[in-house]
Amino acid sequence: MSQIINVPEIFGSDVFNEATMQQRLAPEVYNAWKNCILTGSALPLEIANSIAEAMKLWAIEKGATHYTHWFQPMTGITAEKHDSFIAPTGDGRVIMEFSGSALVRGEPDASSFPSGGLRATFEARGYTAWDPTAFAFVKDDSLYIPTCFFSYTGAALDKKTPLLRSMDVLSREAVRILRLFGDDRTQRVQVSVGAEQEYFLIPKSLYAQRLDLRLTGRTLFGAPAPKGQELDDHYFGTIRTRVSSFMKDLDEQLWRLGILSKTKHNEAAPCQHELAPIYSEAGNACDSNQLIMEIMKKCAAKHNLVCLLHEKPFASVAGSGKHNNWSLCTDSGRNLFKPGKTPRQNAQFLVFLAAFIKGVDEYQDFLRSTVAYAGNDHRLGMTEAPPAIISIFLGDELTAVVNSIINGTNYTDPEKNYMRIGVDVLPAIPQDTTDRNRTSPLAFTGNKFEFRMLGSSQSVAGPNIALNTIMAEELGKFADILEQATDFDSALQKLVCDTLTAHQRIIFNGNGYAEEWKQEAVSRGLSNLPSASDALPTYISDKNVALVTKHGIYSEAEFRARYEIHLQSYCKVIRIEAHTCIDMVMHQILPAALHYSRDLTKSIIDKSSIGVPCRTEQQLVEKLSATCDSLYEKCQALSEKLQNIPEGNEQAVTYFGEVITAAMNALRQDADTLEQLTDKSYWPYPTYSDILFY
Ligand code: ADP
Ligand code: MG
Repeated sequence: MSQIINVPEIFGSDVFNEATMQQRLAPEVYNAWKNCILTGSALPLEIANSIAEAMKLWAIEKGATHYTHWFQPMTGITAEKHDSFIAPTGDGRVIMEFSGSALVRGEPDASSFPSGGLRATFEARGYTAWDPTAFAFVKDDSLYIPTCFFSYTGAALDKKTPLLRSMDVLSREAVRILRLFGDDRTQRVQVSVGAEQEYFLIPKSLYAQRLDLRLTGRTLFGAPAPKGQELDDHYFGTIRTRVSSFMKDLDEQLWRLGILSKTKHNEAAPCQHELAPIYSEAGNACDSNQLIMEIMKKCAAKHNLVCLLHEKPFASVAGSGKHNNWSLCTDSGRNLFKPGKTPRQNAQFLVFLAAFIKGVDEYQDFLRSTVAYAGNDHRLGMTEAPPAIISIFLGDELTAVVNSIINGTNYTDPEKNYMRIGVDVLPAIPQDTTDRNRTSPLAFTGNKFEFRMLGSSQSVAGPNIALNTIMAEELGKFADILEQATDFDSALQKLVCDTLTAHQRIIFNGNGYAEEWKQEAVSRGLSNLPSASDALPTYISDKNVALVTKHGIYSEAEFRARYEIHLQSYCKVIRIEAHTCIDMVMHQILPAALHYSRDLTKSIIDKSSIGVPCRTEQQLVEKLSATCDSLYEKCQALSEKLQNIPEGNEQAVTYFGEVITAAMNALRQDADTLEQLTDKSYWPYPTYSDILFY
């Protein structure tokens, strides 16, 4: 019998959330905190002291002995450094202490986090500051305080700060549009994000035997298993017991942390699964996704499993992505991407839609470059994930509306000529719950856009910063025009019609996997940036620099720092993979194949001495020897290439993306051939069949 858990009771029980604050803080302290959140002002020290004291008592009751500022450096993962609450009393004893200043500000030694040149080594200090919109929580005997991370000079060194900035800017511009439609109540427009997380789970014992998995998170070698995912028997299939007890445990831990874990199921590839939370405000969704990834890994270990978050752990089956569902919602809960019932609501919906279409079309490369990452190169454009070309799927109903606006033609009702914005009612646009077009990188699904290019291991911050900023830019431009208009309705009609006409090329409802789409995209003038090394340089194009600095999302230095870090990370990932390849070839693969060859050779000599034919052994030895020779040569060649890395980050990225990757692929072919030729008892690590069908 499994233990019964009371979900509503445990949900959020490890979070110092609003309800707990209201319960545990004096009313004036609670109100002061609330006021700071609403106005964005700093917490006065005496308020911080009172909150810290209440937080400490609460955390100690939950078993915490330490506290840590928790932040998201530019590496895309999280960082923490734990201090205990102890303070000596002078007589050999201690008390538990936690001050307001320790709550609001920290100073981790930041010298080992990448800064992309933002912080000279002589000024290595970095500071963390509590983001009072994010709740503290208890995990692993520590009180976690979500913070932003910045340098001595105030430059943002993390992913969270620019995300929060982009949310503010977007809210401001969206409210301007709402005012034009007569909404004078909405104070804040929130970005809602739901990130569906894909992952693999494999047995720990098998993982431990593979150097590539341990060092790089993916298999660098491995012949395809005789069976892959062709029978489609894993997707939504029954979940095996070991995995379902992992999932149960995971859900419970996430619920305790107030994370709205909702859906769990098996994914397309063997050993692949997905977790989808209920959407929340973007900053919270970003934190939650980091916690989901981290707790997945820890929880897997408890169940003797390993959770792989790499975009492509196994070559012959589908890789993992992260679908980022994105929408806008007013503070009273109205979804701005939900087509309305009245002509006025529809007109407003069409303004937001047109702004989105324009922004995505104008900043395709910005959006693309936020998912440019070594791991993601294995899936984008590989008919398992969307192509590297950005386009928007609107579905038939909405496309019909767009076309009728553009062409001034009839869309459903034969009596009518064209769609008059603000006068006509939109036809019913069904909310898509079926993932109708999985091949689209950016699909409208009824009341939100689903951005499907993100890699499974990546932070959701990057694409959301881009989406928010692009949207803020376009809404701002629209507001500039509409605020000046003397005849609002005709200005609106013209604006929406002109915008859709100018940017319709970005709308594509067809099969994104088809070869013809690549050609068509070229003829439409859309950008196709197949690999990270193609996409990364576009990140800092003048247009993008102008966009992010105009809205104060990044200073130019902050933006360029991110660019440098992306370039460096790309090179580092591939360099580690290349060195791991060489290590495995020299210490595992070649020795195994040579060992087997030697035993076959002995057998040939023995058999020949008594006149028994040994054609099989002979042929095998010949093939093995030839392949070993070829592999050894390719391994030498890869080693040499690794000695000749060009100077300069941009040049190095191209070199790693083209030269080193090609050399590794060549190596792999020979190694996988050897795996297929060699007696399994000689093979030094578990094969794809062993791992994927354990
Ligand atoms: P599917 O993508 O499988 O069709 P759903 O449409 O139910 O599934 O939702 C997928 C994800 O989108 C979930 O994480 C869900 O919470 C999120 N989502 C739903 N509505 C919104 C919204 N308005 N804004 C952002 N995310 C949303
Ligand atoms: Mg989805």
